[in-house]
Amino acid sequence: MSRKMVAGNWKMNTTPAEGRALAQAIIEHANPTVPIIFGVPAIQLLSIQDIALEAAHFHVAAQNMHEQDSGAYTGEISAPMLADAGIEYVILGHSERREYYGENDELIGKKVLNALKHGIKPIYCCGEKLPVREIGQQEEVVGQQLKTALFELDADQFSKVTIAYEPVWAIGTGKTASPEQAQAMHAYLRGLINENYGSKVADQTTILYGGSVKPVNASDLFSQPDVDGGLVGGASLKAEDFAAIIAAV
Ligand code: PEP
Repeated sequence: MSRKMVAGNWKMNTTPAEGRALAQAIIEHANPTVPIIFGVPAIQLLSIQDIALEAAHFHVAAQNMHEQDSGAYTGEISAPMLADAGIEYVILGHSERREYYGENDELIGKKVLNALKHGIKPIYCCGEKLPVREIGQQEEVVGQQLKTALFELDADQFSKVTIAYEPVWAIGTGKTASPEQAQAMHAYLRGLINENYGSKVADQTTILYGGSVKPVNASDLFSQPDVDGGLVGGASLKAEDFAAIIAAV
């Protein structure tokens, strides 16, 4: 089973009309053989889902969801809503959710569990900030994020989770982790998964790299043995760039 995947995170960009044009242009330019995920604003989930369903290998992700099934949580969307709409993936724990909306790994762990309960596959984002990297504590910090948010899951649940390692200092900054830095962290995380769930689960877990992935650096990053593809922000908004990144995987 291939671990390869490329996911785009459009963040709070594109109107519904722009989003439809972007998805169509990407599908025209790209010829994927592995899952490609469009992480789109909530208002576009259904329209991009309609487009993705027409093309092989394209899927849609929400960029967030609430940890409860329903209730008085104005402005939120829930896992049952996503599941009923046929949305297969949800991005959880993105560093922007952590930074601007105070999400921590306890909360993200609840969201992961609720997504799984409703058959939605979480793309769990983790990653250290620059000061942590500067003192060489990145493995401890990112390892702890996984332990808190994910390692209460049983092996069957965990096997449905995609990990996205996104060093915060590389997101939207133009600074990319070197292929060696990405590989070192991915290998470390796969080792932790091995310790907790055994080698079969570890070997099958998709671990994406995110942080200023572009056509110019995608091949070098994706050729590392434990880097299974990318979670792409800025470059996922340009059809030709995203298609080139898809080609690199
Ligand atoms: C992201 O938003 O997950 C991301 C990696 O952004 P960028 O590619 O723009 O750094």
